[in-house]
Amino acid sequence: LRLNDDHIKLAIQKDGRLTEDTRNLLRTVGLHFESYKQRLFSNCRNFPMDILYVRDDDIAEYVAEGVVDLGIVGRNLVVESEKPVEEIMPLNYGHCSLKVAVPAESGIERIEQLSGCKVATSYPATTTRFFAERNVDVNVITISGSVEITPALGVASGIVDLVSTGSSLRLNDLVAIDTVLASQSIVIGNRDALANSHKAAIIERLLTRFRGVITASE
Ligand code: ATP
Ligand code: ZN
Repeated sequence: LRLNDDHIKLAIQKDGRLTEDTRNLLRTVGLHFESYKQRLFSNCRNFPMDILYVRDDDIAEYVAEGVVDLGIVGRNLVVESEKPVEEIMPLNYGHCSLKVAVPAESGIERIEQLSGCKVATSYPATTTRFFAERNVDVNVITISGSVEITPALGVASGIVDLVSTGSSLRLNDLVAIDTVLASQSIVIGNRDALANSHKAAIIERLLTRFRGVITASE
């Protein structure tokens, strides 16, 4: 196996919440490729594309740097990365939202009441921007995982975290009071690749296939 310069490269999540739906999408549009767990990349047998399997946190960076031409990743990570990539197409799976949540017993109902407080999150850039745009002065604490336990630990008065069903919030006696961002799995593209006629033509063939199977949101 080797990467082919005539092929486009697509980065997808190696092992996580988006992996199965992403693989299913690629197979549903007729792409044939091997996917062994230990493998870093695979070639499509019937389409000029190679697929790289990576951590989702690295996908926006790889696309921005041109390591790959396309990526499939949660919009939440694209916004947080602040990388210059093209948001090409929503895929209508991986739906979740980044929400502001507080302990149910706190009585806090509006984000203004968090003024002067600590807010824990794994999304510091997005969170800082959200509160700054609303002129609410908070102290953003960056935590890499299990953000929802930080209020109980006394680390923060509120959190900004990804929510899909809300069960994790309920489990930790938290309630959502505001939405920072609505997210789903999206296709992102490298700007130079989209401006390259050879690559852009292959990318368009792929997107046309995606459009044929994606049922629009709403
Ligand atoms: P990786 O090992 O690739 O870094 P991860 O653990 O950071 O994976 P996952 O938990 O697999 O990430 O989530 C991948 C994406 O799934 C999220 O970035 C988000 O877009 C989406 N997602 C959908 N629902 C949820 C949810 N309830 N919690 C977290 N992410 C969700
Ligand atoms: Zn990740």
